[in-house]
Amino acid sequence: MEFKLTEDQLMCQNSAREFAQRFITKERMEQADRERRVPDDIFQGMCDAGFAGLIFDPKYGGVGLGMDSYVLTLEQLAGKDPSMSAVLVISVMFLYAINLYGTEEQKAKYLPGGIEGKFRGSFAFTEAGTGSDPKQLTTTYKEEEDCFVINGVKRFISNAGYEGPIILFANDSNGENTTAFVFDKFGPGYSLSTAWDTMTCHASPVYDIFLDEVRIPKDSVLGGIGGGFKILKGVIAFSKMGVMAQCVGNMGHAYELAVKYAKEKLHRGKPISKFPTIQTKIAEIAAMHQSCQLLVYRLAEHLNDAKPEDMGAVIAESGMVKGHVADTGFICCQKAMSVLGAYGVCGEYEIERCVRESLQYPCVEGVGDIQRIMCGSYALRP
Ligand SMILES: Cc1cc2nc3c(=O)[nH]c(=O)nc-3n(C[C@H](O)[C@H](O)[C@H](O)COP(=O)(O)OP(=O)(O)OC[C@H]3O[C@@H](n4cnc5c(N)ncnc54)[C@H](O)[C@@H]3O)c2cc1C
Repeated sequence: MEFKLTEDQLMCQNSAREFAQRFITKERMEQADRERRVPDDIFQGMCDAGFAGLIFDPKYGGVGLGMDSYVLTLEQLAGKDPSMSAVLVISVMFLYAINLYGTEEQKAKYLPGGIEGKFRGSFAFTEAGTGSDPKQLTTTYKEEEDCFVINGVKRFISNAGYEGPIILFANDSNGENTTAFVFDKFGPGYSLSTAWDTMTCHASPVYDIFLDEVRIPKDSVLGGIGGGFKILKGVIAFSKMGVMAQCVGNMGHAYELAVKYAKEKLHRGKPISKFPTIQTKIAEIAAMHQSCQLLVYRLAEHLNDAKPEDMGAVIAESGMVKGHVADTGFICCQKAMSVLGAYGVCGEYEIERCVRESLQYPCVEGVGDIQRIMCGSYALRP
């Protein structure tokens, strides 16, 4: 057991912290919320700093580090603004799927550009009738002589408003053989709804995608016909880890804001930090934050070391971590907000953003109940 960061890990943590402090300022966060997009220079800056390529092979332009460096980086970025880091997380999730399941041609086509920040990738699974249950997809593909033709509607898709490639899941016309396809957004027959009016994640809006006879090349299949579930399962532990690293970053930010306020706010000339009620709250917030942080770090280590035969256990662990950290993140931020009394609910105080952002985690990457079912059924397997 080792609780000390290595030189590489410290370097990643420091460079992400410096980047966030320097570039993700209050004005830029407000701009991103207003415009509902991460400003191009900030996204490009994250990629130039190597954050999109941390875990990928240097032969594609990556840095070649582990999941541990990735979660430490995300924690720092999301500790400033989780909805800006969400755009990076989704794009890296796209790249991770290509890296695991792509052909050499697909890797050469997408990895270097994605790592350099030339596009923001998407990953489209959810539909109106299914978020948690992958067996209920209704989007279809049919094979023609020179292409595949896709029809259907995808719901709540991040990064869908940006140019670039998308990985999209569809069934054959019998509702079977779930397959992942990778192709460019905005071809003929591809259109978007307006952004959903979410109360959280404003800089990373979600859209419905309408696919009306979208014709994509034969080489768009990712991981083989019928390989869709294998890809979903393979990517899911990774994506939950990344999203929960952001949740932990947001909790850490809420903790810092509560501590700062408690030391500055005076009652009868003395800081409220002297009240036992405030001290108790701070202790509880710290315990929630640090226990969730350790769970995410351990998941990252397990993913680093995972052999194919370990993946069942790691996927179950990712469900446990996601279910617990996401729900605890909201309770932690809400408690931190209460340290500020009425100021906590005011937009002028940053803690309000922490609470709003904490709301997204229980409902993305599969709801908490499904995570607990996944984890519990693994623990109770025959
Ligand atoms: C900010 C944001 C970004 C997103 N980005 C993406 C993206 O990029 N790509 C993408 O594909 N999706 C994305 N999503 C969608 C998200 O992953 C799904 O919404 C999520 O998985 C939950 O699915 P659902 O909304 O259909 O809920 P449902 O699955 O309908 O769940 C609703 C309720 O029913 C309960 N329930 C459902 N099934 C069961 C069951 N079998 N047993 C017991 N209880 C059950 C749940 O506990 C839950 O309380 C995003 C969502 C948000 C909010």
